[in-house]
Amino acid sequence: MDLKFYNTLTRSKETFEPIDPANVRMYVCGPTVYDYAHIGNARPAIVFDVLFRLLRHVYGENHVTYARNITDVDDKIIDRAARDGVSIDELTKTTASQYHADVAALGCLPPTHEPRATKHIGDMVAMIGQLIERGHAYAADGHVLFDTASMPDYGKLAKRSLDEMVAGARVEVASYKKNPTDFVLWKPSDEGQPGWGSPWGRGRPGWHIECSAMSAALLGETFDIHGGGIDLAFPHHENEVAQSRCAHGTAVMANVWMHNGFLQVEGQKMSKSLGNFVTINELLRTKTFGGREWPGEVLRLAMLMTHYRQPIDFSIKRLEEAEAKIARWRNLFAEAGEGGDAADAQAVTEALADDLNTWDAIGELDRFASSRNGSALKAGVELLGLEGALAAQSAADIDVDVDAFIAARLAARAEKNWAEADRIRDELLEQGIQLKDGKDPATGEPVTTWEVVR
Ligand SMILES: [Zn+2]
Repeated sequence: MDLKFYNTLTRSKETFEPIDPANVRMYVCGPTVYDYAHIGNARPAIVFDVLFRLLRHVYGENHVTYARNITDVDDKIIDRAARDGVSIDELTKTTASQYHADVAALGCLPPTHEPRATKHIGDMVAMIGQLIERGHAYAADGHVLFDTASMPDYGKLAKRSLDEMVAGARVEVASYKKNPTDFVLWKPSDEGQPGWGSPWGRGRPGWHIECSAMSAALLGETFDIHGGGIDLAFPHHENEVAQSRCAHGTAVMANVWMHNGFLQVEGQKMSKSLGNFVTINELLRTKTFGGREWPGEVLRLAMLMTHYRQPIDFSIKRLEEAEAKIARWRNLFAEAGEGGDAADAQAVTEALADDLNTWDAIGELDRFASSRNGSALKAGVELLGLEGALAAQSAADIDVDVDAFIAARLAARAEKNWAEADRIRDELLEQGIQLKDGKDPATGEPVTTWEVVR
């Protein structure tokens, strides 16, 4: 099957041809770990997880390598650790595990590699050395800068002229720069700041060089797909391309560049000052958005109901629509079971093969549900990473304190009040919870477990 993806580099939809079909390689920029990830960060995690699943489906599970980094050295991290009075190590470890819990709840598979920047400083120093040697970088005032004038097609990915880049981007002006668009590869660290030894003194890497060095270390000098949010196209991805191509002397860094669109909340740009800044954690585990918690599969479906390149307006209404869709699928699936023909799910693969057309794929799932094709519905749902949509409700969704009922029933049984014990059992069953009596294998004590039966 042909896969077609829109390539930012060529501004066109192209048939995807992997460099090595036995090892399809993709890199996606991951989080800078200083605070809870917001829902804007959830979008690339979900979109590129769908792509990862599609590639695994087409080329085979063991023939796709997906690297998504963790940026654990950055000025934002240094500032936050100082503000909160915690060590950088503690801050980055806590934040990285929060991120893992969030994206797992959103149904994202772990990537093949999740490199941490601080574990690849040697690769970065080597790459910077190579750029200096090839005449693409210079040391000045304790910094090392990339010389953008040394690369004739700098700006090609973002398709910007030099004037636009200088005027439009928040390009930092500094006296030691040869050109205003030159960017930092290495900068000096004060005593209290994290730093590593280098030929240019003790310091730390700039953000852009991290991704160039880690992708080369794990995926090679040229690989298939590079993804990220459209806000990263310039300057971050432009600078990644400049560093990687100039250090390795290659024509491209990645063959295909894929970018997901912007995300707004209730029609407005998300920002802390507008008070509409929403974290994934808040949506999943608190009642700050719409006065309730939202299951991970609802968030994921709400995100996939818009094509990945389109801007998305994240709203309560959209979440409710996604939830209603899932409830419908779940009910029809419970009725249909795994009947029907799983091969029909091919239609979902075909929709995704057309530049990840998740909206059409979701339409196919609606069709499978209507025609009671439970097998195709199940297969399609898995391809979109929406397994949770068909799973029985979890304990968290049940608005009943089951443990209190079980305790009351055990007390009734201890008093040989069988009528009361049965009444409690039946009352729970009416709410879809089935109790099972057994014995603890270790102690021989009676134990009651339960499961959701509808
Ligand atoms: Zn990056």
